[in-house]
Amino acid sequence: MSKVSFIGLGAMGAPMAVNILKAGLPLKVFDVVPDKLNRVVDEGGVPADGVEDAAKDADIVITMLPTTGVVREVVLGERGVLKNISPRSIIMDMSTIAPSGTDEVYAACRKKNVFFIDSPVGRQVIHAIKGECLFMVGYADEWEFNQVKPFLDAMGTSIVKSGGVGMGTRMKIVNNLQILTIAEVTAEAILLSEKLGLDLNLVKDVNAQTTATNGQMQFTFPTKVFSGDTTPGFTIELAHKDMTLAMEAAKELKLQLPSCAAAEQVYKQVKKGSFGKKDFSALLEYWCDRGDINTPQIT
Ligand code: NAD
Repeated sequence: MSKVSFIGLGAMGAPMAVNILKAGLPLKVFDVVPDKLNRVVDEGGVPADGVEDAAKDADIVITMLPTTGVVREVVLGERGVLKNISPRSIIMDMSTIAPSGTDEVYAACRKKNVFFIDSPVGRQVIHAIKGECLFMVGYADEWEFNQVKPFLDAMGTSIVKSGGVGMGTRMKIVNNLQILTIAEVTAEAILLSEKLGLDLNLVKDVNAQTTATNGQMQFTFPTKVFSGDTTPGFTIELAHKDMTLAMEAAKELKLQLPSCAAAEQVYKQVKKGSFGKKDFSALLEYWCDRGDINTPQIT
């Protein structure tokens, strides 16, 4: 059986790792925050001493880390995965990072004859807990994909083969650009509807029955901010990171994307205060605060 390590046990990584363990697949685990590590060790994960220990002797190393910089440090750093893993092993990065970051890590892996797969994750913490994630996978070779498939199957229900290495990352930032821009539009529309005196239940119903319908109004907001819960989930800080990744990619391609650019500026503004650590559906709370109204809820 493959020796597998999982690095990054945060809001998404922890439940994903736990689902691998629940499928009966042994896993070495690591997070820099001891509490986060211990929670997964309590579920049967074998603790690694650090990144080096997680990489040594591993056939597959899975990373689920916050940003491009952290992935670079953990994979390419002096004491990183690539320095310690054997040739013909596989690194599968599941974080949402810049396409240029994925390309850089892939190039470094190729130099060392280490295989690399990018498999960012769609959907939310609630899906990660249930083992219902979606994966946008970029890979070079079917044999490499087949090595990681049992682990993807343990963590999720949908795999979208997105193309060669790097295409998973590109797919992910395009998808999150839509989710996050639509979340901001949804928050603004609800603020207006409240000021116009409309009933939120009816606004949601009409949305569902027309082409205005979207996952933020119908799924994310009802499970989070409409229920008075703005604990993350997916933080506004990470949301802004993803908007920036997409806008940087657009800039490199000399594209303007004006509506998305405006939404990116909103996330930049909202993340500055106490909202940065809240769930991204708290955009609604932010705008209701500024509109001097209570954040509406559906009970
Ligand atoms: P998170 O911040 O909750 O988790 C990241 C984890 O990485 C933390 O536990 C942190 O301690 C750990 N970490 C940081 N530096 C480390 C290092 N040097 N070595 C080992 N561990 C380290 O983030 P998350 O919400 O789990 O998201 C992870 C990635 O997945 C991000 O790129 C995010 O954009 C993406 N994503 C998040 C969601 C979501 O709903 N939260 C959904 C899909 C994708």
